[in-house]
Amino acid sequence: MAGSATEPDGVERVGDNALKIRWGDGHDSLYTWELLRASCPCAVCREAPAVSGAGVRPVEIKPVGRYALAIRWSDGHTTGIFSHDYLRSICPCEACRPNQMTEG
Ligand SMILES: [Zn+2]
Ligand SMILES: [Zn+2]
Repeated sequence: MAGSATEPDGVERVGDNALKIRWGDGHDSLYTWELLRASCPCAVCREAPAVSGAGVRPVEIKPVGRYALAIRWSDGHTTGIFSHDYLRSICPCEACRPNQMTEG
């Protein structure tokens, strides 16, 4: 019965500056817009990751099929598609960070 760790059970905005995703395995991830904007995986941003993301907010968030979220940003950027896999992998919480940073 357990849901998938990379399938959102719920996606909701938190206040004015963050997005919360509850995953199928019960894990909660909280992403600030700044983090998401700066983590945009699209080709444009990977080529020129100059944007700090500060002050940028999503104009629209919509599901892409069953595997991703497309976010349209207030700075006019529209090509960012955040797959669920990717979102889970950038979860900034304490529990997930050790998996992302291999330090020390
Ligand atoms: Zn982008
Ligand atoms: Zn996490």
